[in-house]
Amino acid sequence: MLSKIVIANRGEIALRVLRACRELGIKTVAVHSTVDRDLKHVRLADESVCIGPPQPGLSYLNIPAVISAAEVTDAVAIHPGYGFLSENADFAERVEESGFIFIGPRSETIRLMGDKLSAISAMKKAGIPCVPGSGKPLTEDMHENFRIARDIGYPVIIKASGGGGGRGMRVVHAEAALKNAIQLTKAEALTAFQNDAVYMEKFLEHPRHVEFQVLADGQGNCVHLGERDCSMQRRHQKVIEESPAPGITPELRERMGMRCVEACLAIGYRGAGTFEFLYENGEFFFIEMNTRVQVEHPVTEMVTGIDIVREQLMIAAGHPLSMRQEDIVLRGHAIECRVNAEDPKTFRPSPGKINIFHAPGGPGVRIDSHLYDGYVVPPYYDSLIAKLITHGSTRSAALARMTTALDETIIDGISTNVPLHQELIRDAAFMNGGTDIHYLERKLALD
Ligand code: ADP
Repeated sequence: MLSKIVIANRGEIALRVLRACRELGIKTVAVHSTVDRDLKHVRLADESVCIGPPQPGLSYLNIPAVISAAEVTDAVAIHPGYGFLSENADFAERVEESGFIFIGPRSETIRLMGDKLSAISAMKKAGIPCVPGSGKPLTEDMHENFRIARDIGYPVIIKASGGGGGRGMRVVHAEAALKNAIQLTKAEALTAFQNDAVYMEKFLEHPRHVEFQVLADGQGNCVHLGERDCSMQRRHQKVIEESPAPGITPELRERMGMRCVEACLAIGYRGAGTFEFLYENGEFFFIEMNTRVQVEHPVTEMVTGIDIVREQLMIAAGHPLSMRQEDIVLRGHAIECRVNAEDPKTFRPSPGKINIFHAPGGPGVRIDSHLYDGYVVPPYYDSLIAKLITHGSTRSAALARMTTALDETIIDGISTNVPLHQELIRDAAFMNGGTDIHYLERKLALD
């Protein structure tokens, strides 16, 4: 087993990784910014190293600082969590060049999947269905661009190949707006992602977001852990996730899951990963692959009983997968609500001191959170402060538990989106299951 690892992240995911390490007897090093000294996992880690000031660029994204922390503490591996450096191929490469294990895929794989166009072409080759689109970067030639758009059919979406985090996308409904949209998206992409390549896809009008979780050991073994529905989104950011996805039959799950497994084997994938699809009229269209653990991984853990972070650590230590596809059984239904430090109406961030935190509990209730009484939510980072997950034998049982758990949650001192979740979980269309990715924005526009 790995003897000691650096946890190169903060908040709930750093605590999640720390817990998995403790169970496996792996020593932990927490790296943190000056404002994060009092994070729960920093206090619980075997060692901690302050790597810089609060601004992420100077601490959590500072590659030499993170690698030095591994050097001075004699760690053998680095877990990047999600966000920050987790999908940075240069970071993964430098970690390995410095003699440490990167807990994730090979840097070549991260590079291949990090660029949406190269990911799409690799996936097409591996037999994964993709959204009809240009398949290559758009050029200055507007005649050609008009032709591509007409072939695909309006509406289309212009997307940055290097994009992420729901940014760098623009929908175009008619030819008159195409040129401007391409220019704007290109300019934005250059500033945000230092890469101005943009491409065009059919804009699907009523899709759901359905994604498949995979685990591969890089030694020829790979399994899928079923799918998650993450259609409840605002500004392309997920708000509620669940597993399994309503209405996906076991046959369809098996067919798509196995396609993902085959694609992983084709590209020599290693670690935990997610294939993201848009799902419309019974068809799947690949949009991108995430080469890391995801925020919403707990819903899959709840229905499969598999600890995904533990598996990441085992794979990084060189162990072959301990399970085969036939060992994986989905039991019941799980739902996750992302609790953010933000105003439930305006969505403005609401950092500050937590006076009182009462976590919910009871059967089938899990909370992944670094909060405690007196903790101060800093203004510098993502506003996610807790993930509330419930499991039940059926979807309605999981929903009933979520309703109770949300009503029991007390976070006093700052504003959170718990009231929004309380409303959504009782929403008639959501309770029916299968609402599309635009549902939440439409609902919010009506309020
Ligand atoms: P990111 O890497 O920024 O998360 P994705 O490609 O995963 O970008 O897309 C994020 C979200 O944007 C999707 O979940 C979906 O809501 C929307 N989206 C992306 N592509 C399309 C498309 N072709 N049609 C409709 N919606 C899309």
